[in-house]
Amino acid sequence: MSTIELFWRARKGAALGLRGTDNLSLDWRAIIERKDRIVESWSKGKEENLAKLGIAVLRGKGRFSGPNEIDIEGKKLTARKVIIATGSRPARPSFPGADHGITSDDLIHLKEQPARLVVVGGGFIGLEFGFALARAGSKVTILQSGPQIGPALDDEIREALLVTAKEAAIDIFTGVQVSRIAENSTVEARVGHKNMSFPADEVLLATGRPSNVDNLNLPKASVDVERSAVKVNEFLQSVSNENVYAIGDAAGKHQHTPVAWYEGPIAARNALKGNERKVDFSVFPSAIFTIPAIGQVGLTEREALQRGLKAKVTRLPFTSNPAAGVRDETEGMVKVVYEEATDKVLGVHVLGAHAEDMVQIAAVGMLGGLKRSQLGAAHYVFPTLGGAIFDAMALG
Ligand SMILES: Cc1cc2nc3c(=O)[nH]c(=O)nc-3n(C[C@H](O)[C@H](O)[C@H](O)COP(=O)(O)OP(=O)(O)OC[C@H]3O[C@@H](n4cnc5c(N)ncnc54)[C@H](O)[C@@H]3O)c2cc1C
Repeated sequence: MSTIELFWRARKGAALGLRGTDNLSLDWRAIIERKDRIVESWSKGKEENLAKLGIAVLRGKGRFSGPNEIDIEGKKLTARKVIIATGSRPARPSFPGADHGITSDDLIHLKEQPARLVVVGGGFIGLEFGFALARAGSKVTILQSGPQIGPALDDEIREALLVTAKEAAIDIFTGVQVSRIAENSTVEARVGHKNMSFPADEVLLATGRPSNVDNLNLPKASVDVERSAVKVNEFLQSVSNENVYAIGDAAGKHQHTPVAWYEGPIAARNALKGNERKVDFSVFPSAIFTIPAIGQVGLTEREALQRGLKAKVTRLPFTSNPAAGVRDETEGMVKVVYEEATDKVLGVHVLGAHAEDMVQIAAVGMLGGLKRSQLGAAHYVFPTLGGAIFDAMALG
């Protein structure tokens, strides 16, 4: 995504004095090959670390063959404690012709960039790939079954995202019921009261990721499952088998890499030393890598009001941020949700260049219990995009 963002920004560079940007092109195959090299080198590094730590790696599909026994393709292992870290996989919708679609796992290996991409699903994976391909020059259409894309987003951030999607020439349809994908990759769907066809070169199925726990023979170990993930308590311990723990996508709380990294050591420690540490997601920053990206931490305005909090908001568009102006990165905004009576920061939502980094400033402030007015009075470096976080805190 970062190469494509660079490409998109460079192509707009004529206004900044760059020349030759009209002839700039993107080598899709080179991007995919570079991604493969990076992934390979990272996994090699991880494997070397495991070897240095003396951790044995057995290759094969594991499943429970008893409460404390795992069968790895015929080889049996017994353990006092087991941690399930089997991740998730893309859902395959049940409508006819779904096999003609591809998943995100396939898309990142495509040798050619599809000229027309239809994305089924307007959640974070659908939005990320939709924006990436659109910024790379593909014609993108997103079909979302629910009433809105990015259901977990703050409403105003979603509105701002829709503006950037329009500028990226992404067509978005909501309330869509896909009826089938034809062999030539045309998606046939009911949109409201109309039947519509969406021709495509590739159809990306981005309809969620169930956890990989259904093929683990969990009943053999009496491990309960809830909403396709292992049902765990705050110690990441299975609620039905005290010797089993689960982390990351398999535990189903938040599907993000740092969640698995955070939960792994907690589960390992709890399994080996007794339940000592609880997971804490009270301040949890996350990002959606649309182009530009979305960063968010804490409650949306709607969530705050639904919880009965007397919430107020401040907003700052990046058009008011000098660094954004200098860099020609003025799309998007910062929105701060805070509790009126206490001035507590309840949530911060950013759409804009480097939003994924900027939101972490807010997250650290929230973790430290800083009030909105304290963050609004803090010294900051000028001119910076991150300055917008402090300026937004100072408003209102
Ligand atoms: C397209 C896409 C983009 C994403 N972008 C981001 C992002 O930008 N930022 C972010 O934080 N997160 C992102 N995520 C989510 C992130 O990848 C996951 O949340 C994270 O990898 C979960 O880690 P995990 O260890 O739980 O599972 P995984 O990383 O999926 O690892 C699980 C491992 O278990 C193996 N396995 C499964 N079943 C068995 C079995 N029966 N026996 C043995 N091994 C088994 C699998 O092969 C896999 O190697 C993205 C996910 C996708 C699909």
